[in-house]
Amino acid sequence: MTTTNGTVNSNDRLVVSFGEMLIDFVPTVSGVSLADAPGFLKAPGGAPANVAIAVSRLGGKSAFVGKLGDDEFGHMLAGILKDNGVSGDGINFDKGARTALAFVTLKADGDREFMFYRNPSADMLLTPEELNIELIRSAKVFHYGSISLIVEPCRSAHLKAMEVAKDAGALLSYDPNLRLPLWPSPEEAREQIMSIWDKAHVIKVSDNELEFLTGNDKIDHESALSLWHPNLKLLLVTLGDKGCNYYTKHFHGTVGAFAVKAVDTTGAGDSFVGALLTKIVDDQSVLEDEGRLKELLRYSCACGAITTTKKGAIPALPTVSEVETFLHTHQ
Ligand code: ADP
Repeated sequence: MTTTNGTVNSNDRLVVSFGEMLIDFVPTVSGVSLADAPGFLKAPGGAPANVAIAVSRLGGKSAFVGKLGDDEFGHMLAGILKDNGVSGDGINFDKGARTALAFVTLKADGDREFMFYRNPSADMLLTPEELNIELIRSAKVFHYGSISLIVEPCRSAHLKAMEVAKDAGALLSYDPNLRLPLWPSPEEAREQIMSIWDKAHVIKVSDNELEFLTGNDKIDHESALSLWHPNLKLLLVTLGDKGCNYYTKHFHGTVGAFAVKAVDTTGAGDSFVGALLTKIVDDQSVLEDEGRLKELLRYSCACGAITTTKKGAIPALPTVSEVETFLHTHQ
């Protein structure tokens, strides 16, 4: 249960999401370069924070672990988590560094381009000593990306948090969320993303990430299965408006997407992951039952699709009743 101040009381189905939260500045008009944009709207984001909010919107229990600047924007973001019922017990504030910013262009087709302000930003300065170990130990599912692996001390904090969660018996969920401009080189990105690959029980990559990680441009089952590792229970490859491919030890297949008019795909993957984690935190046996898994992935695809129909990530993450209405009208 989550209290009004966002504190988690009982942790039987807690999803803890670790990593960055930042502010996206989105042009007020689509299809322009950053230089040509007449103005920007601020949109809270950061994939791990989006996932925490997605879980909470869908009726799950979640906490965010990370660091924000002790500034106007940092406190604004913490307020957004709290307002969305996400526990802020794992949030630290940095006195010296600012909350990260990202300028995001929306191209004519709804796809994204990024420019980040992190010189360094507060999220990069989280130390292992600052972690709320008790909170992380109580996670049933521990979710993370790869941006927190780019620099120290955040990298060590990430590795420690993962270890603590794993030792406490959590299901580890990994969405690398490749952001190449943030890495010193593509080789370094690939090496670091893969350095924690075989720890995760659930991994979600996009079609672009599959290409990048395998070094081949085939988005097929063989290519995806080349990323399989023995600890993995579920591998997902999301395919934008084509849905997703799923892989387990015993079966694999495809779940199609819903036809929607996409205006901004930001957050679709986080919405998809949030939906998945909200469901498997209650019952992991779904990972062994193809019929039920497909049904769950259909739900996740619906959440992803709904998120593309509105601008921004967090404002577009659906509630349970929105998904139910959507599924009812999209049989
Ligand atoms: P990411 O945001 O990580 O790149 P995707 O863009 O593949 O992930 O989106 C995740 C999921 O959201 C997809 O598997 C799909 O179900 C849904 N989705 C994304 N884009 C669209 C779209 N244009 N139309 C319908 N569904 C979409």
